[in-house]
Amino acid sequence: MAEERFDAIVVGAGPAGSAAAYTMASGGLKVALIERGEFPGAKNVFGGVLYRKQLEELIPEWWKEAPIERQIIEQRMWILGKESAVTFSHRNEKYKEPPNCFTGLRVKFDQWLAGKAEKAGAVPIYETVVTELIHQNGKVVGVRTDRENGDLYGDIVILADGVNSLLGKSLGVHKEWAPDEVSLAVKEIIALPKEKIQDRFNLDDNEGCTIEFIGDTFGMAGLGFIYTNQDTISLGVGVMVNDLKKKKIKPYEVLDSIKQHPSIRRLIQGGEVKEYSGHLIPEGGFTSMPPLSGDGWMICGDAAQMVNAVHREGTNLAIASGKIAGEIAIKAHQAGDYSIRALGEYDRSVKSSFIHNDLKKYRGIHGLFKEMNSDTLFGSLPQALNDAAYEWLLVDGVFKKEKQRKAVRTLKSAAGGNMELLRLGLKGWRAING
Ligand SMILES: Cc1cc2nc3c(=O)[nH]c(=O)nc-3n(C[C@H](O)[C@H](O)[C@H](O)COP(=O)(O)OP(=O)(O)OC[C@H]3O[C@@H](n4cnc5c(N)ncnc54)[C@H](O)[C@@H]3O)c2cc1C
Repeated sequence: MAEERFDAIVVGAGPAGSAAAYTMASGGLKVALIERGEFPGAKNVFGGVLYRKQLEELIPEWWKEAPIERQIIEQRMWILGKESAVTFSHRNEKYKEPPNCFTGLRVKFDQWLAGKAEKAGAVPIYETVVTELIHQNGKVVGVRTDRENGDLYGDIVILADGVNSLLGKSLGVHKEWAPDEVSLAVKEIIALPKEKIQDRFNLDDNEGCTIEFIGDTFGMAGLGFIYTNQDTISLGVGVMVNDLKKKKIKPYEVLDSIKQHPSIRRLIQGGEVKEYSGHLIPEGGFTSMPPLSGDGWMICGDAAQMVNAVHREGTNLAIASGKIAGEIAIKAHQAGDYSIRALGEYDRSVKSSFIHNDLKKYRGIHGLFKEMNSDTLFGSLPQALNDAAYEWLLVDGVFKKEKQRKAVRTLKSAAGGNMELLRLGLKGWRAING
């Protein structure tokens, strides 16, 4: 590879990197988009929900041309007991116009989005690993790749290299994530005939449904998901790494066990597993976010812990941060100033955006999980809620007043007593209202 100079180099062609490359190339910058995978999306994993709003600000009506699976009109939340579920859901025709979110598969979506960046003029450099950043006089001025003579130089380097972000670590802006700052998720793509999916989930044509669930994860902090695609279902579960270590349980054991849950088993019955994958999810949120820029560089998406786990939003934060970084890079290019002074505008813009504000709102969640016992939050409490619901709905001649007392007793005892239940309620409330 001949040594080349670019206005900007983007590392990683996930949603953050492609959004940044698209923005800059559309603004006339000479951009290199480097991706280690054989093609964008080849190595990427996510649950499957893509949001309209943030990408629409970059590509109007993008869903009309992008490879999406289904348009979500119903979202369900399940709290699982051993063989039961307390469920909440919201279905609304209003989600049809304008659409709110869609299901998608990364292998197709990432290729499409990176393709848009290429069409806008970004130079694709795939199957290439950036091994380190090149510094001169304290500034980042390029990247070293695993290609022969593979140094590339640019005025700005945008790090969009995902949750592991070895490059972010090399800059010292963040450390190795602690086991309580990341969860490990495993996912299967299960093939089923389209009609079966529509029947089982009560859907027409391109309508889609999402289910998230907690409980039945061996008392570990975790969240599972089931998303409907055209003729496949994405089923997965993510569990905090510190809990996996503590309990010495493998994530695929959790997934295997969840597949036997009666509420889930019937949805995937007869399906054929087509793909199996695993990936880390940043869970540290607001308190784990590193500084976002420096002399010659900016960092976006998962590499900067931009995931709102409470709302399972990550791709949209990645796209929004990539777009903002791209816009700041264009301004810096016009001013010929790539110093932290100019690029610091990126930190300020992120701070005034939904990314910072939403993550700040939930900043207490990380502390709550750290402080509370996962066995209680994700084991005994979900089970107690299911037991209480069972008792409450069972018509067995027991007086309703007694049933109510029993339900409250069950919940109190699962939490460890009156005070603990109260403390948990208060802490939970504070954690989501930061
Ligand atoms: C199981 C799971 C379920 C999820 N579900 C959802 C969901 O339903 N909805 C949602 O919005 N978000 C979801 N997320 C989160 C979402 O996937 C991420 O937030 C999002 O992909 C972040 O995008 P990114 O571009 O920052 O990073 P990534 O998508 O990880 O992209 C990083 C890219 O950089 C490349 N790369 C890394 N290092 C190098 C290097 N040194 N050289 C060259 N290339 C490199 C990688 O190959 C990759 O293509 C989920 C995540 C997981 C793991």
